[in-house]
Amino acid sequence: MSAEANAVEGLKAVLGNIARAQSEAGRPKDAVELVAVTKTFDAQAIRPVIDAGHRTFGENRVQEAQSKWPGLKADFSDIVLHLIGPLQSNKTKEAVALFDVIQSIDREKIAKEIAREIEKQGRAPRLYVQVNTGLEAQKAGIEPGEAVAFVERCRIEHRLQIEGLMCIPPFDENPGPHFALLEKLAGEAGVEHLSMGMSGDYETAIAFGATKVRVGSAIFGHRPKA
Ligand SMILES: *Cc1c(COP(=O)(O)O)cnc(C)c1O
Repeated sequence: MSAEANAVEGLKAVLGNIARAQSEAGRPKDAVELVAVTKTFDAQAIRPVIDAGHRTFGENRVQEAQSKWPGLKADFSDIVLHLIGPLQSNKTKEAVALFDVIQSIDREKIAKEIAREIEKQGRAPRLYVQVNTGLEAQKAGIEPGEAVAFVERCRIEHRLQIEGLMCIPPFDENPGPHFALLEKLAGEAGVEHLSMGMSGDYETAIAFGATKVRVGSAIFGHRPKA
């Protein structure tokens, strides 16, 4: 089977698993949206998944996304592109111009620069705050104890409408407690969306209330190690 056919098969399998996990968790139909993560895969590998009807995608690097998504977005105006990786401040302008959702606000400086770019460009991506639920030194995100106050500051000082929280649990831990923590913080902060769950744990994340799951390798296959 070709790689493209595999990606479409992968998409169908993941969508089926999402629907089942959603119903088993007693969640309404369409409560959970799949963000298909396309990092390391080129436009040619992505196109069959678009042709199969999928429209919501995620990338973790601005520069890599710029190399493939402007063309695809020109061809399919209803594509919704999420930035799911850390944003460097010198890439804020490009990120605000290209992405429809930025899930990775992880510090005050980035919030401030996103606010400035939104005002300049008159284009406003939807915004999430990333929370470092495992307090990992190597991982981006606001500490859980500061997340609610940070969301408030984004709203009040930077006039940014934050609509979700995102987390990436430590990869060697049971993700359940991390998902539960993110769900609790979202309730306290009054935000609607929970972006949590990847190829290995999206069904668990759905049981804990995820509204966006970010799935790459279960659809597109293994990525070459960078
Ligand atoms: C790569 C990536 C994913 C997808 O990971 P898979 O295990 O391939 O599903 C999800 N979230 C983030 C932030 C990523 O960088």
